[in-house]
Amino acid sequence: MVKVYYDDSVKEDTLKGKKIAVIGYGSQGHAHAQNLRDNGHDVIIGIRAGKSADNAKADQFDVFSVAEASKQADVVMVLLPDENQGTIYEAEIKDNLEAGNSLVFAHGFNIHYDVIKPAADVDVFLVAPKGPGHLVRRTFVEGSAVPCLFAVYQDATGEATQNALSYAKGVGGTRAGVIETTFKEETETDLFGEQAVLCGGTTHLVQAGFETLVEAGYQPELAYFEVLHELKLIVDLMYEGGMEKMRNSISNTAEYGDYVSGPRVVTSDVKAHMKDVLTDIQNGNFAKGFIDDNNNGFKEFHRMRAEQKGHQITEVGNKLRDMMPFIDQNK
Ligand code: NDP
Ligand code: MG
Ligand code: MG
Repeated sequence: MVKVYYDDSVKEDTLKGKKIAVIGYGSQGHAHAQNLRDNGHDVIIGIRAGKSADNAKADQFDVFSVAEASKQADVVMVLLPDENQGTIYEAEIKDNLEAGNSLVFAHGFNIHYDVIKPAADVDVFLVAPKGPGHLVRRTFVEGSAVPCLFAVYQDATGEATQNALSYAKGVGGTRAGVIETTFKEETETDLFGEQAVLCGGTTHLVQAGFETLVEAGYQPELAYFEVLHELKLIVDLMYEGGMEKMRNSISNTAEYGDYVSGPRVVTSDVKAHMKDVLTDIQNGNFAKGFIDDNNNGFKEFHRMRAEQKGHQITEVGNKLRDMMPFIDQNK
């Protein structure tokens, strides 16, 4: 059974009075830092010079180098891009952690795949909001919160669970509910979701639909509207009320077609391929490919990005969105 923690299940706010260094001030960093501070925690920022550092200063934080902030703090929350965490940890964080400190993440990738091998005398846990940073901050200011996951990887002090819950309460997560998981489960389900369904699955389903219509002689503009633009309406309905609300809202024709044709497209073959993707996540093959490519200057990553940008759907979409000024393209 899933275990959920709320405000009143955090018996001891063990991080109150401790110094928390939020490393990175991007999507997650700015939200964690501000929510923790508003909840009375002592927060400093560790970041390189640049746009994020300027933002943190404008928000009235004390800003230090990553090394200096890690040295001063009892709790080091690593909110850097996943592919940079290993190098920055080695160079600036590792030697500045003392016994009994907490090393914290919002995603388990680097610990789970052994990129970062923490010393045995620090607590290691994760607190991962289930939403982007701007939503983590906005909901907090409005008085609610985005639900979070938490997991303990290493309990050196005997207080790692209390520390994790204290952190989760600090960012607001316990207002909505914080679900207990493991580094393995958080990492593998997160990667699978984004690869098989949310990002990889959706983009390639849309492109295949677009190509099918265009190759059959239909106008690309109509294809774009039918397979990409209208996706938002459907996803919004599923977000609000699951498959049921979506199916209640569409026409009977659309619902009937859903049942008849959906299984012809997403066949048991597709599910078998999903299992292959999951296997590569579980055995570390995906992580190895990502890390190796990063060490090689992301050559393959940049090649694939350029290839996808060249797809006809990009050009058609750019033209059509210009006809719809009500879509805020910079949101
Ligand atoms: P962002 O890319 O938004 O922010 C990264 C931050 O790291 C920026 O402030 C950037 O500063 C800084 N940074 C990058 N390189 C360096 C460096 N070499 N030295 C110092 N600072 C550096 O990342 P996210 O907030 O999206 O992700 C952070 C973590 O949170 C990841 O582990 C991610 O998986 C996790 N997460 C993200 C979620 C999301 O929705 N975004 C949701 C849940 C978890 P600069 O401006 O100088 O580049
Ligand atoms: Mg992810
Ligand atoms: Mg239609």
